Amino acid sequence: MRVPLPIPTDCEGCGVCCEGQEALPVGYWLSPLAAEDPRKLPADLRANLEALRVLYDCHGWPAAGEACIWYDRRTKKCRHHPWRPSVCQDFAVGGSDCRRVREMHRPELLARIRQARYDLARPRPGPPRPAWHHRRDGR
Ligand code: SF4
Ligand code: SF4
Repeated sequence: MRVPLPIPTDCEGCGVCCEGQEALPVGYWLSPLAAEDPRKLPADLRANLEALRVLYDCHGWPAAGEACIWYDRRTKKCRHHPWRPSVCQDFAVGGSDCRRVREMHRPELLARIRQARYDLARPRPGPPRPAWHHRRDGR
C-alpha cells in the first residue's frame, strides 16, 4: 500500500503548486480580475509585470507547465507572497487540492524530504576557532 505524503501545515520546502503557473501574476494583475482585489499592487511590481507583458507579446509567453515567474527555485517560495494572485491565496495549505498536487509531484517531494533530513543530520561546521586555539604540535 502506498503511504500518503505528510499533510503540510505550511509551504516550507514544497512549492510544487507554483511550478506550473507560468505568467500567472501578469495574467492576474493586468486583467480585470485585479479590479476586484482590495490590495494595491506596488508601482514597481506593476511596472515590472507590464514590461514582462510587452516582452512576452514580442517574444512569446512562457511555455505551458513552466514555473511561475514569481517562484524562487532556490527557496521554493513565492518572491512576492503578499501580492500573490487571489487564486494562490485561495489554495489552502493541506487542503484537498494541495494534497492532490503534492501527490502528482510525489517523486520530487520525496527527494526533497530525504534531502532535508540528510541536511538536518549532517554535522555543521562549528564557529571559527580563535587564533590562540592552536594544537600543541603546531598544526
Ligand atoms: S502544494 Fe500545498 S504545501 Fe505545497 S506549496 Fe502549494 S499550498 Fe504549499
Ligand atoms: S504568484 Fe506566487 S504563490 Fe502564486 S503561483 Fe506564483 S509563485 Fe506561487
